[in-house]
Amino acid sequence: MHWVLIGPPGAGKGTQAALLAGRLGIPHISPGDTFRRASRAGTPLGHLAGSFMERGALVPDEVTNALIRERLAEADCRVGFILDGFPRNLAQAGALQTMLEELGLPFAGAISIEVPEEELVRRSVGRRVCRQCGAIYHLETHPPAVSGVCDVCGGEVALRADDREDVAKTRLEVYGKATAVLLDYYRRRGELRTVDGNRPVEQVLAELTLLMRNP
Ligand code: AMP
Repeated sequence: MHWVLIGPPGAGKGTQAALLAGRLGIPHISPGDTFRRASRAGTPLGHLAGSFMERGALVPDEVTNALIRERLAEADCRVGFILDGFPRNLAQAGALQTMLEELGLPFAGAISIEVPEEELVRRSVGRRVCRQCGAIYHLETHPPAVSGVCDVCGGEVALRADDREDVAKTRLEVYGKATAVLLDYYRRRGELRTVDGNRPVEQVLAELTLLMRNP
C-alpha cells in the first residue's frame, strides 16, 4: 500500500489522505504539513520553506527530497504510505523512484484526484485549516462546530496564508506547469489511476479505500 496522491490545490488530497491513513493504518506524509509545522515552530527549515510557500512557489527539490527520504526510511513506511503533495515535479518523481529502490520499498501507483477548475476555486476560497493540528475545514460544507475553533484540538481555525486569492492562483499555475506532467509520467509507466474528486468526501473516500485495498 505505497501510494502517491496527485491533484491540484483544492482537489481534496489532504482531506482524503488523512482519512485514508486512519482507515488503512498507514502513514500520511505531507511535505506541506511538515513545512507549515516547521514554519510555526520557527526552525531554520521553517524559515526557508516559508519564504517559498508564502509566494506559492515550490520549496527547492534538495530540501524536499531530503525530508521525504528521511521520512520514508522510518519503520512505519514498510507497511505502506500515502504521499500527499510529493512528488510535485518530474525531478522529484525520479528521486522518489530511487529512494524506493534504495529502501527496498514497493510502489503501488499514483492516484489522480480530478476536480473541475471552478470547483477548485470555490474550495480554496472557503478552506480553513487549524493552525495547530492542520485539520481541514470548509466554511460552507464542513465548518467547525464553534466558529474559528478546531473540533479536534481546540486550536485556531484560519485561512491558510497561501489560500489568499493571488497566492492560490500561483499555486494552480505551478500545478499546471510542473506537476500535471506527472500524470503522463505515471500513465506511461502503467502506474496511474484516476478518481472523480467532484463528489462528497465520503464517496471519494469509499472509492479510494477500495482502490488502495484492491489495486
Ligand atoms: P500543500 O500543503 O501540499 O498544498 O503544500 C503547501 C506548500 O508547501 C506548496 O505550495 C509548496 O510551497 C510547499 N510544498 C509542498 N510539497 C512540496 C513539494 N513536493 N515540493 C516543493 N514544495 C512543496
